[in-house]
Amino acid sequence: MLPLLNKSRTEIIGELKNQEFDVLIIGGGITGAGIALDAASRGLKVALIEKGDFASGTSSKSTKLIHGGLRYLKQFDFWLVKEVGTERAIVHKLAPHLVVPEKMLLPIIEGGTYGSWLTSFGLKIYDILAHVEGDDKRKMLDKKEALSLESLLPENILKGAGYYAEYRTDDARLTIEVLKSAVNYSAKVINYCKATNFIYKNNQVKGVSVIDSNMNTAFDIQAKYTINATGPWVDHILKLDKKKENTTAASKKLRLTKGVHLVLPYHKLPIKQSIYFDVPDGRMMFAIPRNQKTYIGTTDTTYFEDINDVRVNQTDALYLISATNNMFPKINLSLDDVQSSWAGLRPLIHEEGKPVSELSRKDEIYESSSGLISIAGGKLTGYRKMAERITDLVSKKLVDSNEARPKDIQTEDLVLTGGNFKDYNDVLEYTDQIYKEIQNYGFNKNEALILVHRYGKQTDLILQKFDSLAEPQIEIRMAKAELWFCLRYEMVMTPLDFMIRRTGILFFDIEKIQRIKDAILKEFSEHFNWSQDELNQHSEDLNSEINKTINFD
Ligand code: FAD
Repeated sequence: MLPLLNKSRTEIIGELKNQEFDVLIIGGGITGAGIALDAASRGLKVALIEKGDFASGTSSKSTKLIHGGLRYLKQFDFWLVKEVGTERAIVHKLAPHLVVPEKMLLPIIEGGTYGSWLTSFGLKIYDILAHVEGDDKRKMLDKKEALSLESLLPENILKGAGYYAEYRTDDARLTIEVLKSAVNYSAKVINYCKATNFIYKNNQVKGVSVIDSNMNTAFDIQAKYTINATGPWVDHILKLDKKKENTTAASKKLRLTKGVHLVLPYHKLPIKQSIYFDVPDGRMMFAIPRNQKTYIGTTDTTYFEDINDVRVNQTDALYLISATNNMFPKINLSLDDVQSSWAGLRPLIHEEGKPVSELSRKDEIYESSSGLISIAGGKLTGYRKMAERITDLVSKKLVDSNEARPKDIQTEDLVLTGGNFKDYNDVLEYTDQIYKEIQNYGFNKNEALILVHRYGKQTDLILQKFDSLAEPQIEIRMAKAELWFCLRYEMVMTPLDFMIRRTGILFFDIEKIQRIKDAILKEFSEHFNWSQDELNQHSEDLNSEINKTINFD
């Protein structure tokens, strides 16, 4: 049975106001979502608030890989490779439709980061530490084999390649499925609600004051423990806490770096599998095919500007374009080829004197003297382990103070909503079945796969709705069925939530927006009873966002 995220907001806010929670989480990215699921499934009373849409921070702006952490081998961080490698296998098992196998080619070039020996040895260690099995184990390819897999590689400097397994995901959808799974365990979760102040009792944080930007109301939430899981905003929340020890170290935990991705039409960079390649300045970047597009990224530059409006600029875009042209001499990309883009901030742990590229990607937990618990750093891939560490900490406090008796961790076997498959072959069989149902309407197999990757077994519900709609235009009819699902089950509040974080079409199918936009806006308007002014505003927001993904300052 699916959780209903769409009880009326008034009802959810009523529940948030009228009880004391064991744990209140600020931040609805993957970190907060993971903690909500872990704590709720151990039987704790959990609330989570998110100031924008769920996953609207870094958790919709990543490279969208659940990866084994090959780059950490370069930093000799074997422990981290082992942990993320193990986690990768677990998260794939919990949502096989959403965390899908993706072969990766690592070209070995003259003067590159990894020579033949290091690539072979590194990938071998990686296989062992990350418990890689069967077909996923690394293979070393000579030049001819590498070129036969990828003829676009630079023949004159290519020496061979490593060929290994990674997993691809949709970061925002992963966050949303984790949140829905938490709601299944009675967590109270709401978006567009911002923590503005802390509530104290005996100088200890005992909840937060909240502003609901959707209904323009303010209310308080009481909790025994409050977790600051706000990613790039962690330092901002620390500053709100007036009762903590007053030192710089207590309020400055992060170094933010910007990472940018560009989306190109597939035919402009028609690679046959994902590639992790050298950039002339000594960094490495990815090129990843997805649907009818290829996306490239990422940059890693220190960021001091507005964290609420992170944008791709011309320098970022030109860096990625020229690095890609450099690795694939047969193609000739220009800025005009970019169809969409995104930019996100890495919330890295501050370490005095270290350049950003060397900062650890590990997570850290801080306890302020006011009792506020903050978690920063980490990766999408490690979300479940981060949640375990925080929930263990809170559980211990609750047990020590005799306030609750939480169960042991449950999440290793807790299948995420929509993820009820035996393995990836089962996902493909289910896709065949979905394809049979929709092919007569003119949908192709790839469109069936996109639906299944997006919603897993929940695709059944969407198709039931699709069948019941009278809309004659088939593409619009499917978009309406998806929107119905997202309104009913996923607390979608705006067209941008739908186009970016529920479906990802603003990134990977931007042309479709023009075809479905009017119908989708109309559906929203009817559902939320918008005035003409509100409708115009949402339409403008959408146009402005589309514009910003291709026009760089
Ligand atoms: P966020 O997703 O930013 O969530 C924090 C949330 O807190 C935000 O939604 C924000 O709106 C909310 N918030 C802030 N203030 C308040 C408030 N006052 N009240 C309520 N809510 C508030 N990891 C991987 O494993 N694989 C990858 O391929 C990968 N690629 C990456 C590529 C890039 C370019 C970047 C930047 C990161 C990448 N990462 C990757 C790392 C990963 O994306 C992040 O570690 C992760 O998404 C951080 O999640 P989070 O929940 O901590 O932060």
